[in-house]
Amino acid sequence: MKYVIVTGGVVSGLGKGVTASSIGVVLQSCGLRVTSIKIDPYLNTDAGTMSPFEHGEVFVLDDGGEVDLDLGNYERFLDVTLTKNNNITTGKIYQSVIDAERRGDYLGKTVQVVPHITVEIQEWIERVAVVPVDGKEGAADVCVIELGGTIGDIESSPFVEALRQFQFRVGQENFCLVHVSLIPVLGVVGEQKTKPTQHSVQALRALGLTPDLLGCRSAKPLEQCTREKLSQFCHVPAGHILSIHDVSNIWHVPLLLRDQNVHLAILKKLNLSSAPQPELSE
Ligand code: ADP
Repeated sequence: MKYVIVTGGVVSGLGKGVTASSIGVVLQSCGLRVTSIKIDPYLNTDAGTMSPFEHGEVFVLDDGGEVDLDLGNYERFLDVTLTKNNNITTGKIYQSVIDAERRGDYLGKTVQVVPHITVEIQEWIERVAVVPVDGKEGAADVCVIELGGTIGDIESSPFVEALRQFQFRVGQENFCLVHVSLIPVLGVVGEQKTKPTQHSVQALRALGLTPDLLGCRSAKPLEQCTREKLSQFCHVPAGHILSIHDVSNIWHVPLLLRDQNVHLAILKKLNLSSAPQPELSE
């Protein structure tokens, strides 16, 4: 199983879900079977009791799971049918660890965030990633995992630590990290600012994760000098820096990514370079 992890920096509501779904579409168009997992670091077990005014539409899955709208994006973009287990929350992870503790599974041990919570997160990912979601038999080739929230949040830190451990558990050739960040434009000069992204990549690295690709959310396409500066300061090759500027319709985002050869960078990192070219049309 190959894993593509999508994290976010600087602000929430950046477009991680749309980016993760679009990456899935491009990989699917290369002939790969794709599944997805959304991690929501909040303590609620699911989104069923959360206010839609605060959190957006609650998406209901075929198995009755009440989840974040991002799972709706995945189902619509990838034409898959996900289960409630494809949505991991802090509430679900803690519930499962506390149930195990009550059963006596850890007898004699002190139950801790590291390793018990972080191991449960990794085992949950591995369990769910192999469940077919596209009506075919056998596990998918690639699992796209979106980590909700923003790097640096207290509540997402056990998940970041779990993903740091996970890269060694599955091996570097099976783990590709895409960090989506904001490139704001300040003042009348209209210069694209890279500093917030530099800081968020620094925060990510300090936690032991190195981005393979940078997804840059901006109002206008990324300028060449911005790309070069990001490459220099964030230690990501210029060709792996993606302009994910505002488009009139989010269904254009997969095409935007394909045009920047996102598949080549991801397939190379995942040692899947022999996969065919994407077949995507407007
Ligand atoms: P996150 O998962 O980071 O919270 P979402 O993927 O839910 O963010 O996107 C937040 C909002 O931004 C959604 O309304 C989505 O349609 C919009 N959006 C995301 N990417 C783009 C884009 N490239 N152009 C225009 N709108 C976008």
